[in-house]
Amino acid sequence: MKFETKAIHIGEEPNLEEGGTGDVVIPIHLSSTFARKEVEKPTRGYEYSRTGNPTRDALEKRLAALEDAQFGLAFSSGMAAETVLALTLLNSGDHVVAFDDLYAGTRRLFDILNRNFKVEFTYVDARYLENVETAIKPNTKLIWLETPTNPLMKLCDIRAISEIAKEKGILVVVDNTFATPYFQKPLKLGADIVVHSTTKFINGHSDSVGGAIMLSNEEIYAKLKFNQNAIGAILSPFDSYLVLRGIKTLAIRMEKHNDNAMKIATYLESHSRVKKVNYPGLKSHPQYELARKQMSGFSGVLSFEIDGGIREVKRFLENLKIFSIAESLGGVESLIEHPATMTHAYLSKDEREKIGITDSLIRVSVGLENVDDLIEDLDNAFKHAF
Ligand SMILES: *Cc1c(COP(=O)(O)O)cnc(C)c1O
Repeated sequence: MKFETKAIHIGEEPNLEEGGTGDVVIPIHLSSTFARKEVEKPTRGYEYSRTGNPTRDALEKRLAALEDAQFGLAFSSGMAAETVLALTLLNSGDHVVAFDDLYAGTRRLFDILNRNFKVEFTYVDARYLENVETAIKPNTKLIWLETPTNPLMKLCDIRAISEIAKEKGILVVVDNTFATPYFQKPLKLGADIVVHSTTKFINGHSDSVGGAIMLSNEEIYAKLKFNQNAIGAILSPFDSYLVLRGIKTLAIRMEKHNDNAMKIATYLESHSRVKKVNYPGLKSHPQYELARKQMSGFSGVLSFEIDGGIREVKRFLENLKIFSIAESLGGVESLIEHPATMTHAYLSKDEREKIGITDSLIRVSVGLENVDDLIEDLDNAFKHAF
């Protein structure tokens, strides 16, 4: 089956057997517990909803199928997925090499692991292979990547990094939230594990917070499954239903996010009040060739630097009518935010400047509205700002 077909059917095949009801859409199984006939074993495979739930199972199957993975696991947030993953793979004294332009929440989690559990982290500009290579130590267990990164849309070469990792027996994790499996398949490029915030493009409607892990390594899956139950940060049946529903339109949404973002990036690049646009679909992106090689599209997030300081940023953002000033991304509605004071305020000014997040940087999540309306909205805001 091709991507669009799997996105609609996997996990939700109507049950037309004796006792089945033929639902085309799987029910939301709200029961917290499941009855059995015999004491020793569950009759229908389910015992307690944290351990396993039919609606969540359907989603986990579909999530796996999207990444061409054997296994999928759904969590109550992207951070819950990352927490379970980190606690499963890392021990005190282990070392991790991570991209220095990571989602700020991931950085926060790693700081806890470092402070409380003595896990060591080296943050590198993973755009350059030699930085990753030289950061590897004898106790390196994991390379943690995000590509494209948030908010600067930097890329790293998943295939090349995975080859180095494989030689040394190091696992590679890729946060694939920005590209989604529709545009990028890290497991095919050699990574071991993919993690997602389903809150973003995968659910796509800004009405559910969730996370996912997809992988094909059975041994690691068994540990993750055990820890998913032990830690308990599972996705609820209702949210599982919402994400199953959101995924059905993932392919068609991503095409339109990509089209609209390309048009907005091109518009911004030609605007006299814009100093720089970061979007991997632009020929001016320094890693455009890598983007073309490892992605089949460039997704719906971009960032740009306005030709002004905080005052102009504030006037620009507060005069937009269609774009909402809000954190998060990947929904049908266009969102805009100021990383230095919002999503990336957790980092110190020095840390932000080192990776390139200036006070003039604005991040845009391009939605599915008519792109002419979006461009007109931006145009008006520029007029107010300057
Ligand atoms: C939002 C996000 C996360 C965290 O996910 P939550 O669902 O908000 O917990 C992790 N990584 C990336 C790239 C994100 O955008």
